[in-house]
Amino acid sequence: MNEDFLRRAIQLAAVARESGNPPFGSLLVGPGGEVLAEEHNTSVTDADITAHPELKLARWAARELDPATAAGTTMYTSCQPCGMCAGAIARSGLGRVVFALSTEQLLTLKPGGDFPVVPQDGPALFDEARIPVEGYYR
Ligand SMILES: [Zn+2]
Repeated sequence: MNEDFLRRAIQLAAVARESGNPPFGSLLVGPGGEVLAEEHNTSVTDADITAHPELKLARWAARELDPATAAGTTMYTSCQPCGMCAGAIARSGLGRVVFALSTEQLLTLKPGGDFPVVPQDGPALFDEARIPVEGYYR
């Protein structure tokens, strides 16, 4: 764990807040310790609920890095990634995440708590739903 990179993520969180956005920032560090990209939350100014820095970096990495390079990266982030971002990080093939605030610690600072869990119903219609999927993952 590199505390200087974590401190940079915290600085980016402050930049997000100063720009009118939720206070979160992240950076992606390559295998050799070089900063590849930095982002901060822009969900308010972009009017985009997905504009979390971790998700933006995961998308950037999936687009710009080959899988081996992506696997050698570390994301330093001011707060533990939310469920949406954790999913994107897994799909992008990044190697590791280092965070400052945990979700539990964040929730002590955030009146109203975490996002509600939306109920999901299923499975259903397996014989129909399998048709477009069958054979795709080979
Ligand atoms: Zn997120």
